[in-house]
Amino acid sequence: MDDYFSPNLKVLVAEDSAPVRLVIKTYLGKLGIVPHFAEHGRQALNMLGPDNFDMVFMDVHMPEVDGLEAVAEIRKKGLKIPVIAMTTADDPEIQQKCLQSGYDDFLFKPITKEDIFRTLLKFFPEPK
Ligand SMILES: [Mg+2]
Repeated sequence: MDDYFSPNLKVLVAEDSAPVRLVIKTYLGKLGIVPHFAEHGRQALNMLGPDNFDMVFMDVHMPEVDGLEAVAEIRKKGLKIPVIAMTTADDPEIQQKCLQSGYDDFLFKPITKEDIFRTLLKFFPEPK
């Protein structure tokens, strides 16, 4: 993990909880990544262009437009970017809905540094 430094990886984090945003910012920062933040799904959709991000970490439960609606919209636009659901581990029904809506993978809350690292490695084995 100490060797993985990826300052050119463009990550969008959509999360309505300020404390969770701060945790993710800190963990990604240790890997050289400075993420952009959205506070709900509508803002994330407005920020996301065809080619401006490499990856999205997106909370499932958010005001305005939630993660399920937002990821469905992302897929409807034809964007193939990896979108990772941030949710709790104890609700298999939600997880099923996430996959059906177009999420690629999960980060279960409370999110650890190791979880984030594993997820990055899975989608971007070579740092950017
Ligand atoms: Mg939330």
